[in-house]
Amino acid sequence: MQVSESRGSASRGREARPEPGRTHPPAAPLALRDVLAVLDGLYPPGLAQDWDRVGLVTGDLDQPVRIVHLAVDATLAVIREALDAHADLLVTHHPLLLRGVHGVATTTAKGAAVTSAVVGDLAIFCAHTNADLARPGVCDALAAVCGLEAVEPLRSEDRYAVGRVGTLPVPVTLRSFVENLATRLPATAGGIRVAGPPGVTVQRVAVVGGAGDDRIDAVRAAQADVYVTADLRHHPVLEAREESRGGPPYLVDAGHWASEWVWLASAERELLAALGPAGAVGPAGSGRGPGGHEGATVETYVSHLRTEPWEFVVAANADGGTS
Ligand SMILES: [Zn+2]
Repeated sequence: MQVSESRGSASRGREARPEPGRTHPPAAPLALRDVLAVLDGLYPPGLAQDWDRVGLVTGDLDQPVRIVHLAVDATLAVIREALDAHADLLVTHHPLLLRGVHGVATTTAKGAAVTSAVVGDLAIFCAHTNADLARPGVCDALAAVCGLEAVEPLRSEDRYAVGRVGTLPVPVTLRSFVENLATRLPATAGGIRVAGPPGVTVQRVAVVGGAGDDRIDAVRAAQADVYVTADLRHHPVLEAREESRGGPPYLVDAGHWASEWVWLASAERELLAALGPAGAVGPAGSGRGPGGHEGATVETYVSHLRTEPWEFVVAANADGGTS
């Protein structure tokens, strides 16, 4: 288990400089509503799928936000970590509550998570499928760690950009590409699984963060050599490999948590940039624009807690393929 690391901070307006002989009141912190306005601007809730549940899960819009924690999942361990770090806001990718909930007693894990957040004054906010489609969003972050250039939407649906496809600066072998990717993703128990011959040359790469085996047709249409995603199931992958007769697209399962964890640094960067002196906080005319929180500071932390449920593997036969 690793603890989170501090990554950065943003100050609103000028630094409050104490002057000799004069007492300055402490800068008023940002309110949750101000930070949410920025997050909704970065990850518009209107981009979310109908079935999704994005936005604020716990919290009061007027509560102060000084420390923001970022994680893929609001697990009990992540919430404990955020509370121990005195965070006021936990930003996650996956919704804590997606299906019907009839109580938040601590008798269930979800109830315990909500209760501990509420008792600890921890607001929880999630940006899920809206962060997948946002630009920059989850897929852009994955494209970046893949080292892609000339990145464009893998597919446009209802004017939204689904997935990304781009090119590597130079062609490399499939094994080399995945080994390089492994150095830029957080390590997981399951490692990275690859469907394709290690020695083939690849350059055009498609990506979808998280579960993406329903996009293989789009990957083929985009003429990608490799598809990096996660949660790849037996039948879609086997059928795709059969369909391509051993050729591209080769498939890479980078792990659900790892493929989305890389977005946290991007979300942190975007949030801090938007909260910076030049950023506008709050809707126009609300009186909460630049200067409204002179000297207010937000600290951010990206959690390194691995919320992937897999913990170990046995009898892996890494080079035991039949091809
Ligand atoms: Zn996901």
